[in-house]
Formats: sequence, structure tokens, C-alpha cells
Amino acid sequence: MGSHFQRIVDVEVTAADARALAERMVGWMVTEGLITRERMRYGVYSPGTDTGYVPGPNWRRAVADSSDPGWLPGPVAVMTGRHYYVEGQGADEADAAICPACAARTVVIDYPERFEADQEIWRPFRDGVAVWKDTGGGNVACPACGTAVPVTDWDFGSGFVLGALAFDFWGWPPLNTGFHAEFRGQLGHRAEDHTGKF
Ligand SMILES: [Zn+2]
Repeated sequence: MGSHFQRIVDVEVTAADARALAERMVGWMVTEGLITRERMRYGVYSPGTDTGYVPGPNWRRAVADSSDPGWLPGPVAVMTGRHYYVEGQGADEADAAICPACAARTVVIDYPERFEADQEIWRPFRDGVAVWKDTGGGNVACPACGTAVPVTDWDFGSGFVLGALAFDFWGWPPLNTGFHAEFRGQLGHRAEDHTGKF
């Protein structure tokens, strides 16, 4: 259980605002007793950080089922800065990308024929995401209609998202729907959920 995470990615906050919002969210979770201000390294394998906040006395309020006495949650890591997040384990690409201008779907991983990305097709997206990470800009020309579309406007599906603020709950029992709703209310933004394993 220790190497499993539930991730919440804010897909709307800007990189400039992410740090202040992260601090506000940590403050809220500390006030609620979900985490403490104490940090630990053990069991954190998040991108860009190797520490997380230790669970607080009220962590059970956030989960669907806390009846297993052997299942105690691990740290909560908070990541700020522009990054791409991929659902699951180890993948680095989206399955497909839908152009907002012409609605054409560019297939990157051709299931069920293949289980790996076509790197020729993915390359312009990877380059666009790299530019976005560095600058906040970055366009990818649609292979179908030729429109230069900002990487943040492409629809990669819920399994591949771009965001400047994300939270990893390491080893927590499944978070409950009420907590998810409250968390989004506190963020004030759209967010995507991912689960994965290290
Ligand atoms: Zn297009």
C-alpha cells in the first residue's frame, strides 16, 4: 500500500499563483487535522519533491473506509511548478490528443495494436510540453488542420494533464467523494484525479 498514490492536479492555476495556493491548501488541511506541518521523506516518490506532510489526527474524515487498522496513510506531497501528470505507472505520453479547432483525434498509442506511444507522432507534443514547462507558452500544430494550438488547449483526456499544482496522497485509503468536493471548493479550480503506483 505504501507505494500507491492518489493524485489531485489543479489544471487551472497559473505557475505564478501555485505556490500561494499550495500554502493556503496546506493551511486548510492542517486546520482540518488531515495533515500536520511536520514533513517526512519515507514513502514519497513524487515528481519534484521527496518530502510530504505527515497525516494529522483527523485523516479518517477524508477517506471512504478507515476500518482496516493495518492501513494507515502516508505523507501528502505537494508539487508546485508546471508539470505534466500521467495516470498509472511509468507512462510518459498521452494515448491521444484531440484538436480543439477541428476535433480530429491524433492517436499516440494505437490500442489494441500497440501498447507504446508512436514517438514520431508524440514528438511535437513532447516538445510543446517542454516549452510550456519552461515558459508557460508552447504550441503544437494539428496534424489534421495545421492550426497552431497551445499545448494547454489540446484535449489529451483525463489520463494526461498539465498543471502547476498537484497533491499526492501516498498510501491513503481511497479518498471519499465529500473530501474531493471540499478539496475542489478550497482550490476554486477544476482538478483531475489520478491514481498510480511507484
Ligand atoms: Zn485540428
